Amino acid sequence: MAGLFMPRSSLAKDICKTRKSYKAMVLSCIDPRMQKPVTQYLANKKDGTDKNLVCNYSQVNIAGAAVGAVALRFEKWHQTFWGNLNISLAEHRISKVIVINHRRCAAAKEAYGPFEYGSADEVQIHRVVLANFRQQAINCVFRRFRPPIPTQSDQ
Ligand SMILES: [Zn+2]
Repeated sequence: MAGLFMPRSSLAKDICKTRKSYKAMVLSCIDPRMQKPVTQYLANKKDGTDKNLVCNYSQVNIAGAAVGAVALRFEKWHQTFWGNLNISLAEHRISKVIVINHRRCAAAKEAYGPFEYGSADEVQIHRVVLANFRQQAINCVFRRFRPPIPTQSDQ
């Protein structure tokens, strides 16, 4: 267990200065093919101040990215993702969520298949998933900063 201990002067602290707020949370897939492209994308993406996002985002990786956060097939993961988003909102004061879904995603096929990789159906599934994710993310922020609206089951 001693090998898991990270001292206060860890490499991450030396490279990434502590900030009061960070730009974004990034949600991407666990697919090994996506790790390098995602890292490169974030290193090249500008944050609106002509700087890249290195050391300026929190990150969650789950199978399917947005698929894992909204698909009924992966319902048991939802609380984990949305809980992490709430923590990042509170602790990192992020101002955006960047979701990186990808084509030929096995998790998307498991949740919404069958469909052919590269087909219009695959693209449409990701569009619907991302729209659903966006609405849930808005609701997540809304719930965080405003009192919850009572539903009939609460009365
Ligand atoms: Zn994937």
